[in-house]
Formats: sequence, C-alpha cells, structure tokens
Amino acid sequence: MTTSFRQVADADIRGDLEVSLEVFPAHDEAALAALKDLARRLRPFNPEFISVTYGAGGSSRERTLATIRALKEVTDTPIAAHLTVVGASREDTLRVAEQFREAGVNHIVALRGDPPEGESAFTPHPEGFANAAELVSALRERWPELRISVAAYPEMHPDSPSREADLDNLKAKFEAGANDALTQFFFDNDLFFDFLEQARAAGVAGPVFPGVMLMPNFFQVKNFAVRCKATVPDWLEARFAGLRGKKDRDSMLVHRMLAASFAVEQVLDMAVRGVRHFHLYTMNRPHMAEAVCRALLLAPDGEKQDDRRLCAG
Ligand code: FAD
Repeated sequence: MTTSFRQVADADIRGDLEVSLEVFPAHDEAALAALKDLARRLRPFNPEFISVTYGAGGSSRERTLATIRALKEVTDTPIAAHLTVVGASREDTLRVAEQFREAGVNHIVALRGDPPEGESAFTPHPEGFANAAELVSALRERWPELRISVAAYPEMHPDSPSREADLDNLKAKFEAGANDALTQFFFDNDLFFDFLEQARAAGVAGPVFPGVMLMPNFFQVKNFAVRCKATVPDWLEARFAGLRGKKDRDSMLVHRMLAASFAVEQVLDMAVRGVRHFHLYTMNRPHMAEAVCRALLLAPDGEKQDDRRLCAG
C-alpha cells in the first residue's frame, strides 16, 4: 500500500492520470442543485467528462436532458449523455440523440439497456435497435465527429453465453465505431486486468476505462452487485461486518471512511499497474470522488502553487 502511494507520487505517473464522473439524473430541484454543486466542486480536478445516465427503459429521457442542461450552465466540463435502445424505435432513439446534440452534447454512452421491470430477457422493440452495436453504427453514421463510449464487463454480461461471446460483442461495438469502453464496476482489480488481457488477445484494441464504484452504502451496492453478477470479495465484505443497518452518526461515518479508503486503495493499485483513466460512479455525491481525485494527486493548480510558496518559505 505504501508502495502505491509512493509510486503514484512518482514523476512518471504524476500529471498523467485522469478521471471521468458518472451521475444519475436529478429527481427534483434540490437534487439538481446538489448536482450543480458536485460539478462546481470537482471542476478544479479537471474531470475529462461528466456522464449522465439514462433511466431504465428510457424512463428518464426528460430528466437526463434537464440535468445535462443544468450542468452545462455551471461547468465547462464536457457532458456525456447515456442513451439506451430499450423500448424505442430506431427513429425515436435517434431523435433523443438529436436532442442531446442540440443541448450541446458531443459524447454519447451508447447502451442496449436492461429489460423493463418484471421481464427477464431483453426483447428489441419491433422497429428498434437490437443491441448497443447497432446503435453505435447508427450514431457513427449520422455524426462522424461524435465521441461514443460503450459498456464493457470484466466479469461478463449476465446475458452472455460465454466470455468469448461477450468479448466478440465488445469488439463488434468498437468495430461499429465506439471510441472507448467504460466498465461495469468490480472490486477485485485482478478481475479487471485479466479481462483486459483477454480482451486484447481477442482483438479489442480500443481504450477500456475501469468503472470504480464509490459506495455511500456498501450494503446497497452489494445488492446491486448481486443483480449484475459482480463479485463482492469476502475480504471486502468483512471490513463492513457489523455495520449493516447501523444508522447512528458514528457508525455511518466509519462506514463512509471504510468505503473511501477502499476506493482510494483500488485506484492507486490500478494506477501503479498502468491505468491512467478512471470512470468514477459518484452516486451523485462529491466528497468521495474528491478524495479519490486528491489521492491520485489531481489537486487543483492553484493549490499546487500554494504548496510551492509554502515550501519556498
Ligand atoms: P450490448 O452490448 O448490446 O450487449 C448486452 C449482452 O447481450 C452481451 O452479453 C452481449 O454479448 C449480448 N448480445 C448483444 N448482441 C447480441 C446478439 N446479436 N446476439 C446475442 N447476444 C448478443 N443502463 C441503463 O438503463 N441506463 C444507463 O445509463 C446505463 N449506463 C451504463 C453505464 C455503464 C458504464 C455500464 C457498464 C452499464 C450501464 N447500463 C445502463 C447497463 C446496461 O444497459 C446493461 O448492462 C444492459 O443489460 C446491456 O447493455 P450493453 O450496452 O452492454 O448491451
């Protein structure tokens, strides 16, 4: 661990790292104000982009748009819009993309989406895109200059029949025109590096950025992880043993400290193993994301100058 801290401070890595931030659309005015604060607070760390998710089944189309517009009012950080194909015709899906473009979005995270609540398997809309690769193709054809990110799964997508099929699908998304991939979250870094090695061997050449889950509540994230078949290692769960359901201030503080220290540990380990871009699932909370940025030494320029002045006496 000490080694990780030292190595990240090393000149070879320092200044070379970057983050992107994922948020979900705000439900009301208060949540929108909180998101604007997040964008302002994290702006000095120069995030490469902030991506706004698209509610399951396209349920948040308006909220995603409203959130994008609100963020654009307060920050010059590029905003990416997630877009899914589930439950919509090709024409409707591309119309939403058009609205994103009109709102000033130059970056789309192109996804298939999950089946609606109560349905276990994804069935394409009769006039819709069958999968994310088809959406990528259509977006690329319409907007050659657009940045397009896609999803990747270090532990395989639950619908995939095999690791090979999953990697073929990822490759197809790059061949259709994706610029980069953002991964599902994972907790064991070895899973990510093994996946990356297999992806390279399967011919996936594009950049793949690890998704890092920042956990305001470990137990909620654990439930989510079970649904998307992401492994929660015993050694991680053991750290939170005894904290389940404890709502008193001190327990909650300890819970968050453990979660933050794990996130820092996770990114530093990946940084020393060569990762340069981290996609942070912020859960719409700025503080843990800020702690991770600081651990990666992405401190704002102004602060670095202050430090130099202090050192100079
Ligand atoms: P695809 O890449 O289309 O593939 C999904 C699975 O289907 C793969 O296993 C693939 O192998 C298989 N498959 C694809 N095409 C075929 C084919 N022709 N024949 C057989 N099998 C096939 N969901 C949301 O609703 N909103 C969001 O904003 C959102 N953001 C996300 C962000 C990230 C970074 C990630 C990792 C996921 C996100 N998701 C989101 C979840 C995502 O929509 C689901 O995981 C969904 O089930 C799959 O989407 P995909 O784009 O990976 O699908």
